[in-house]
Amino acid sequence: MAKIIAIANQKGGVGKTTTAVNLAACIASFGKKVLLVDIDPQGNATSGIGVDKNTTEKSIYNVLIDEESINNNIIKTKYENLFLLPSNIQLAGAEIELVMVISREYKLKNALDEVKEEFDYIFIDCPPSLGLLTLNALTAADTVLVPIQCEYYALEGLGQLMNTIGLVKKHLNKALEVEGVLLTMFDARTNLSIQVVEEVKKYFKDKVYRTIIPRNVRLSEAPSHGKPIIVYDSKSKGAEVYMELAKEVLGID
Ligand code: ADP
Ligand code: MG
Repeated sequence: MAKIIAIANQKGGVGKTTTAVNLAACIASFGKKVLLVDIDPQGNATSGIGVDKNTTEKSIYNVLIDEESINNNIIKTKYENLFLLPSNIQLAGAEIELVMVISREYKLKNALDEVKEEFDYIFIDCPPSLGLLTLNALTAADTVLVPIQCEYYALEGLGQLMNTIGLVKKHLNKALEVEGVLLTMFDARTNLSIQVVEEVKKYFKDKVYRTIIPRNVRLSEAPSHGKPIIVYDSKSKGAEVYMELAKEVLGID
């Protein structure tokens, strides 16, 4: 039975997709069967794992809106143990199309229920908003992983995110828990980064992962090659830290 982890933060550019792709790939490299679900219309997780989002006929849109079977829309990636439910630009319309659908918040949950038994982990890469697509992810998930960029206004908007998680727990998914908070794009040379780490730890305490993701150029290059960091440059700092995070998530030290 898979553990389902949504990677969410309504801010863009905080490292959601980078974390979804690389954590999924690292955990798959430990022999776990992993499904990466791209529920962002931008489709960055899809292209980041080497699938062409402009030509793929398989898509999460078909599942959420056209009621196609999820099994018909899952792709086996080039990487062992790693599968993808891709997104494409059609999904941009889904946020509005879903408004009229019955049990609109449960579409993804109902689909994932069909394949949950087949995987060990399912990661959902959320869009940068708290709309119906993110609500579908939070309703389907067991836990939510929140990446926070070590930048100005890092904590801004987090109250709203926690509030949304609270509302989902109350009305849609009682069992939802915060998996952990991940500090990303850390730059040890700046006081700002160090301050953000302190602030976030004060606020989230033991929910903050020991692993902190530094800024690493190789991590920003890998997506344009359609490769996770452990394939693109296995010796990079980026590969090292995402492997560490994978171990933390798996509970092996
Ligand atoms: P989100 O999905 O939250 O919008 P992304 O994961 O797409 O954020 O990251 C935003 C940008 O920052 C992307 O260009 C990505 O390649 C880059 N990036 C993410 N994490 C790092 C990192 N640790 N070091 C350097 N660049 C990063
Ligand atoms: Mg993204």
